This record gives sequence, structure tokens and C-alpha cells, in this order.
Amino acid sequence: MAPYSGKYAEELQATAKYIATPGKGILAADESTGTIGKRLSSIKVENVEANRQALRELLFTTPGVGEFLSGVILFEETLYQKTADGKPFVDVMKENGIIPGIKVDKGTINLWGTNGETTTQGFDDLHKRCAAYYDAGARFAKWRAVLKIGELEPTELAIQQNAQGLARYAIICQENGLVPIVEPEILVDGSHSIDKCAEVTEKVLAACYKALNDQHVLLEGTLLKPNMVTPGSDAEKVAPEVVAKYTVRTLQRTVPPAVPGIVFLSGGQSEEEATQNLNAMNALKTTKPWALSFSFGRALQATVLKTWGGKKENVKAAQDALHVRAKANSEATLGTYGGNASGEGTESLHVKNYVY
Ligand code: 13P
Repeated sequence: MAPYSGKYAEELQATAKYIATPGKGILAADESTGTIGKRLSSIKVENVEANRQALRELLFTTPGVGEFLSGVILFEETLYQKTADGKPFVDVMKENGIIPGIKVDKGTINLWGTNGETTTQGFDDLHKRCAAYYDAGARFAKWRAVLKIGELEPTELAIQQNAQGLARYAIICQENGLVPIVEPEILVDGSHSIDKCAEVTEKVLAACYKALNDQHVLLEGTLLKPNMVTPGSDAEKVAPEVVAKYTVRTLQRTVPPAVPGIVFLSGGQSEEEATQNLNAMNALKTTKPWALSFSFGRALQATVLKTWGGKKENVKAAQDALHVRAKANSEATLGTYGGNASGEGTESLHVKNYVY
């Protein structure tokens, strides 16, 4: 049986290709209500809809940001919100050449009998929800599967469950016109070596592409959102050139050239570290049949949040901070980033067992 060839086949390929435009990437602003609450409490702002709306309006109306972003991932609440002037966020994005995306998973749940491994929930009504999100203007989706590295982890059970889940989610998205971002995040937590991370990432990605093929997913209409290959958070750091070499080698071994773009998550790296690592990958001279770009959450928003602090008078400065980071990452997709954009953004954003 051939891959998906239904009514959205052409559109899916065009959407995925556009998102992977060199020089552009994705802002992941899809924090669930619980997660954004943690962010807001870090700047002593109450987690109510008006404040969530204000933060998202600040991000999406940043002048010139469309030059560096091809997509923004939203949480369901945000997809239906408007600016203070009453313009739907979705329209603001489209006018800037930014495609709206939507988080469609419902978080993780433990796999019984494992040492805290998980699978991702959200299949109930997924067809219906995807169709409604398409009607609301979304053209791509995200589903985050989480794996961890331990003495015996990830187990074969966790690898298979998560690969099957991602593939099932992906084909449901395609049937409803949404480009699925396939996100198997291997957490950075631990003291493992970069070699161990490479070995596990290879195994997980190979399982994912086997499952995607088995479920007839049209790879040309997908994007991959992986972790970068790095040592564990409790191990000694390595240079961006080393991260680049390991990460690209891992992708060469597992990701078919049919996939138009690979958009990395930042996974708790500092803003600057994430940019430098991405830049080193794009500067690396080797075979890279896919665009290598970003889909950063924390690594695009940390300085913005701190600068804003929930105050109207800081909106302009916070937008300037987003512009700086988005431009730096845009350059990193071309391998032309020249160094620390602002002197800021070097603080680690790692949180143990991060829940998104
Ligand atoms: P981070 O870049 O903060 O890891 O988040 C990206 C994301 O969307 C994780 O699902």
C-alpha cells in the first residue's frame, strides 16, 4: 500500500516545504495552561487568560519577526484568541507569512511496569479535533513523545509504544490536512555520554520511521522534531562542533531524504547554546538532504519573558529581545551566525523531567 495520497497530499507537501524554508524556523508557543503557569509565576504574573493572551500577543505582533519564522505552534486556547484590538491571532500570523500550528497531544501517562517511562495520550476525537483546527486556520500539528535514558531505558516497550503512537497521530493529521511534526524527545536528564545519546537516538528514530512507513504516512508532508545529540545534563559539555557532528551523523543514518525539514527542540539548553549548536550543524560540510532548523520554546522565550515581566511598558523591549533571538536562529539555519547576539541568553533552562 502506497503512502497517503488523499485530497490533502499536495497541500501537505507544500506546507512542510514552506515551514522548512532556509532562514526560517518555528516558535513553539504551545505551552499548556499548566506549563505557561510555571513560566508566568517565574515573573510573578498570575496565570489567567488575560495574561496568557498578553504574552502571546507580544510574541505574535513583534515587528519583523515573520522574516525569521515560518510557523508558530499554539495551544488550543491561543488558536482562538485575538489581539486587544480584536484581530484573530491566526490572521496576524498569516499576514506575516507565519503558518499557525497546533499542539494536539494531551500529555503523557506512565507505562506500567517501567521505571517511569511514558506514552503520549490524545487519540480520543483526534480526527474531529484535527478537522476543527484546520477549519480554524491551523496547517500543522505537534505531538510530543518522551523517552529517557537510563541503565535499562528506553525499553523496547517504550520505544515501540511511542513510535506507534507518533505514526498513528501522523496519519490522522494528514487525513485532515495538518502536517504532523513528529517529536520523539529523548530527555537530556542523566550523566550519560554523547555516544550513549547517539546510540539511543538512532534506535528511536529508526523505530519511528519504520512505524511511519508501516502506517502509510507521506514523509514529504511531515517534519521531524528531535533532540540534538548531546551528553547528559550531568555530564561534561562538549563543543558545538562535536554536537553537530554526532547529531548530523545520527540523522544521516535514520531520517529519509523524503523528509523536507528537521526542526530541533531546545530541550533546556540555554538560548545561546541552542543557537550555536544549530549553527555548527549548518556549517558542517557533509551530506544534509533536509533543512536543519529550529522549533524552540524555551530557547526563544526565556529572555523575552524576563524582559517583559508582565508590564505593558516593557512590551517593546521584550519584542526586541525576541527579534534578536529569532534573527540569531535564522542565521544559524544558514550556518552564518557570528556569535553571541546580545550577551544574554547563556543561562541553562534545564528542568528535570520536563513536562510540556
Ligand atoms: P523547548 O525548545 O523548550 O524544548 O520546547 C520545544 C517544544 O515544543 C517541546 O515540545
